[in-house]
Amino acid sequence: MAKKIVIAIDGHSSCGKSTMAKELAQSIGYTYIDTGAMYRAVTLYGLEKGYIKDGEICEEALRKDISSIHITFERTAEGNLITFLNGKNVENKIRTMEVSDNVSLVSKLKFVREAMVAQQQEMGRKKGVVLDGRDIGSVVFPDAELKVFITATPEVRAERRMKELLAKGENVTFDQVLKNLQERDRIDSTRKESPLVMAPDALLLDNSGLSKEEQRCWLLNEFYKTAGLE
Ligand code: C5P
Repeated sequence: MAKKIVIAIDGHSSCGKSTMAKELAQSIGYTYIDTGAMYRAVTLYGLEKGYIKDGEICEEALRKDISSIHITFERTAEGNLITFLNGKNVENKIRTMEVSDNVSLVSKLKFVREAMVAQQQEMGRKKGVVLDGRDIGSVVFPDAELKVFITATPEVRAERRMKELLAKGENVTFDQVLKNLQERDRIDSTRKESPLVMAPDALLLDNSGLSKEEQRCWLLNEFYKTAGLE
């Protein structure tokens, strides 16, 4: 049997990382881990507890609770990933604009990152995993055998994200979505703790002009090259 590897997919907000990572994992029989969903779940926890209000976080309250925040995933028969927060299905709730607007404030906190990174490292300990996020290739799995950094122009990303949100029944405008992802990119790239950076040994993929099928083939080809299965 071929040796299992770790695949790290990082990049800017809303550039299709999760779709690519999920599809790759499915086609090669690996486990997909959506690390953004974990930061979103912690944000939802903070919002529901009233720890986050008007863009301000009560850090001490969240710090006290952090060890009791457990995030797990379940896979549906169709291969979709469902996020659970302390045993409760929160998959739809973590995708709202309210969570998107607050998640970068939560993900920049050192104690939140430490807790999430530890959970992610444990999930990927046995390899055979595809993780998507911001710091997978730089911090979580610096020894990952395949690292990809994905980006696209902000306008292309906002257009794609807006379509997804509208399809889910969220009433959003292009400008709202564009502003949210630019702000998230700004906070994610400039934060002190594990900022969004491209690992020096990552492959860069700008998918602005690529179809899903072209990206799928590109990634699969890189996997086969790295795993020595060409
Ligand atoms: O990937 P997604 O857009 O769902 O991630 C939501 C947010 O979670 C990002 O904007 C970022 O602030 C945070 N994040 C992170 N590190 C990761 C994954 C996500 O800081 N590995």
